Amino acid sequence: DLFYRLLPKVELHAHLNGCVSFETMERLIARKPHLNIEHSMTAIRAGQRRTLDECFQVFKVIHQLVDTEEDILMVAKAVIREFAADGVKYLELRSTPRSEEKTGLTKTKYVETVLEAIRQCKQEGVDIEVRFLIAVDRRNGPEVAMETVKLAEDFMLSSDGLVVGLDLSGNPEVGHGKDLLPALQRAKNSALRLALHMSEIPSQKEESELFLTLPPDRIGHGTFLHPGVGGSDSLVNKVRQLNVPLELCLTSNVKGQTVPSYDKHHFSYWYQRGHPCVICTDDKGVFCTELSQEYQLAATTFGLSPEAVWTLSQQAIRYSFAPECIKQQLEQRWMELRPQVL
Ligand code: IMP
Repeated sequence: DLFYRLLPKVELHAHLNGCVSFETMERLIARKPHLNIEHSMTAIRAGQRRTLDECFQVFKVIHQLVDTEEDILMVAKAVIREFAADGVKYLELRSTPRSEEKTGLTKTKYVETVLEAIRQCKQEGVDIEVRFLIAVDRRNGPEVAMETVKLAEDFMLSSDGLVVGLDLSGNPEVGHGKDLLPALQRAKNSALRLALHMSEIPSQKEESELFLTLPPDRIGHGTFLHPGVGGSDSLVNKVRQLNVPLELCLTSNVKGQTVPSYDKHHFSYWYQRGHPCVICTDDKGVFCTELSQEYQLAATTFGLSPEAVWTLSQQAIRYSFAPECIKQQLEQRWMELRPQVL
């Protein structure tokens, strides 16, 4: 629908390697025929579902296809252009720095290459502001988490403001948040903004309580925070009191089966309470979606008026980790675009 595509949008929860489009995937597969990877292994199509564990298998396959500087540059530039083509005006990309012995890729090179992609898109006049969050994959444990925080600190100082924060993600079934707390605390003390995946599965209640002591600047998913699904009033009260925005990814949660159907998505719980909610894609390539489509799904499922949809996209500007001057520019952009869209 044209309205949702024209709607200026802010994307705050997008994992680089989960965002790789069909077209880019074809190119990657053609570059590495010896891997024998088929497209069905890297994307979950309409009507299909996987367990969360199976979703994480998909990322392993994609990581095999994206393992050189050249791959990362191509993928990151394509992803940025695709978001821009979908009407996204501000994008916060996140990705886990990887080293690959085979190709000589280092974690520093990995981050530098993503930043290079952001700069090249800017230079080429792609109509989108992009910032980067360095991701900690929880499965790699506390030492790697601490190293990653140090890497993020270095880049925060040397990237002309492109690196703005830290993400904690990865398979929620693996590892304990308690062990990662010192690294997260350090990041917080260094003024890195924190976007943490929280309560993606029911068993993370204690971990979420612990993380809320930091507190994070935004929460990814937060699917099982509320009492209706086994969370608790105390968790909800804490999140509301701290006013931590939630990044909500409808299709991702339905296809990953942590939410039974679109109409049961926790968007409605938080939105009805007036809590800051941001609609996001999570992994637009893997889940075969786009941000415009996610807005449309939220609107049709929960009966949001065009005005309410507009407000939702505009308010996301505030919850970004962009500096104040960029936020003001974006607000201006929204004001200019409003008559053409609404
Ligand atoms: P990358 O960090 O750019 O390699 O993007 C893929 C990675 O993002 C995965 O290996 C996970 O660590 C993380 N990720 C993507 N989607 C999810 C999710 O729904 N929950 C938790 N982690 C995720």
